[in-house]
Amino acid sequence: MKNYLHILGSGSAQTTPCHKCKCKNCREARKNQKYRRDCSAYLFRFDDINLLIDYGAHLLNKYGLDDINIDYIFISHAHSDHFKGLFPLSWTRQEKIPIYYSGEDLSGAFKDLLENPKREHFIKCPVYQIINLNKSLEITPILLNHNIYTTGFFIKFNDYSIVYLLDTKGLPKKSMDFLKNQKKIDLVLIDSNYGPQINSNSHNNINDALEVVGRLEPKNAILTHISHKNPPIKFLQDYINNNKPIQNVFLAFDGLKFKFKV
Ligand SMILES: [Zn+2]
Ligand SMILES: [Zn+2]
Ligand SMILES: [Zn+2]
Repeated sequence: MKNYLHILGSGSAQTTPCHKCKCKNCREARKNQKYRRDCSAYLFRFDDINLLIDYGAHLLNKYGLDDINIDYIFISHAHSDHFKGLFPLSWTRQEKIPIYYSGEDLSGAFKDLLENPKREHFIKCPVYQIINLNKSLEITPILLNHNIYTTGFFIKFNDYSIVYLLDTKGLPKKSMDFLKNQKKIDLVLIDSNYGPQINSNSHNNINDALEVVGRLEPKNAILTHISHKNPPIKFLQDYINNNKPIQNVFLAFDGLKFKFKV
């Protein structure tokens, strides 16, 4: 398969199962592998380009991808569930890995990496400015609403457009306007950390996520960053089917491959 998103980790910082947690999702995940969720890691494959967005755990090995070339990494923010996979990757035998980040609110651990690079080549990038990676691939960082400085990404691969929105609660007006100005959006990948019963200032619940999807009107949406503090998956799936604002709304799971119709 060519041109697809491979979700390596669709969970929150706590992962599912959360250690020693007895909630229904965690118990279910201990019984059934398919309900387990690792920290955020999203691998985009565009022709022969491999792009990682966030790398919250070293998951390439788990999927037998330990020998692929990593062309670019983009890090959304300095919460460890989005970058701690970079530590083992430091010892890569690849000559260098370009890592783009937006460079505010950097925590001690992320700062350590920045200040002591091995094979990493860190590149600071401002928001709302297009980064041309090659003639068919460009990425624009956009600001999100989280409890530390966080950027989402608008990705264009030829005519196919993808929006990456995690971690966030809703969207700042400037980012909503920026996205509404795009000709079309093929896929939205969005933070949906909580079920409908929990309200947070830093993460979407499923209603917040569906509202953003409704406003952006993409062709497809994938709800992700699913924490164990959710109703059981069957409930979430029914909830999506009863409340989805567009036809194609999917719930992420670890290992999911989503093909781009380019
Ligand atoms: Zn997170
Ligand atoms: Zn739990
Ligand atoms: Zn976060």
